[in-house]
Amino acid sequence: MMLEEVTAPDPRLAGWRDDATPIAMRCLAAVVEPKRASGLIRALHDALPASRGGVDHVKRVKRGGDGALRVVLATVEAFEAASDSNDYRALVQQRPELHRDALTVVDIPAQPPVTRAHFERGAALWPLARPPAQGPCATPDDVGETVPRRLADADADRRALLRIRPPSTTGCSRGGAVLYDPLTGCVPLTAAAELAELVKEGAPGDHPLLHAPMLVVRAQARRQRDKRAEGAPPSEAYLCTGMDVALTHEPCIMCAMALLHSRVRRVVYGRRDPAHGGLGSVESVHTLESTNHRFRAWRHDPDWRLVDGD
Ligand SMILES: [Zn+2]
Repeated sequence: MMLEEVTAPDPRLAGWRDDATPIAMRCLAAVVEPKRASGLIRALHDALPASRGGVDHVKRVKRGGDGALRVVLATVEAFEAASDSNDYRALVQQRPELHRDALTVVDIPAQPPVTRAHFERGAALWPLARPPAQGPCATPDDVGETVPRRLADADADRRALLRIRPPSTTGCSRGGAVLYDPLTGCVPLTAAAELAELVKEGAPGDHPLLHAPMLVVRAQARRQRDKRAEGAPPSEAYLCTGMDVALTHEPCIMCAMALLHSRVRRVVYGRRDPAHGGLGSVESVHTLESTNHRFRAWRHDPDWRLVDGD
């Protein structure tokens, strides 16, 4: 089975291994008496700020197992450049613990965290300054493992849709979709089940906007609505936050935007749509710089076949 991620892997992951442990970067640190630490950090603010030292993604101080405080100054390379400045030389006159010979080598995570797991595991090496900004989930994942079953589910959904409405001619609206919630393990939601509900409520089954991806997002909205009606507290998670979608066909641009708006975590699809596809073919909606959410997407190899050979 061939599975191709639609975009290059996030370059921010270069500093992290697959098990979320950090790749270390060698830095220089001063060993400081606790009562002198805050004064030293204030003095460093002008003479050698963390940003100039390349260490502004970590906390400046770490307490060692020996009880001593270590104040990280800079990467080894950045220190060589910065320690030549007049400001730094003047500071060393007052603070001999900042002299090069008094410094010790420490390891810190080389890159800021991309995921919560990076933030937590990275702290074992050196505490990170702040948790990751919200963005695409980049944890090691089970995409390769789950995709055959999920695409088969999406294809079964496509066939179920055909039992409810006539076949369509354009890409995305011909396909099937299934929404999975890997966080809670809720029963997956299918486009066909949602369409059946809508038809029961009197909607026309062949409505031109009811493409399969739109239907699973609607199904999730319905599930949240039903839970609230049963008295469940409002969910903190917006619509499809943290969820995965499997599609037989690449979503059109409208559906790709709907998936983005729903805050879906990742999408896998079986067949490209060179004429209308919104995840890699005509447009790459999931990677737009200007949107407030992005997600990861994979496509299957071109040989992926629907059950009836379409
Ligand atoms: Zn569509």
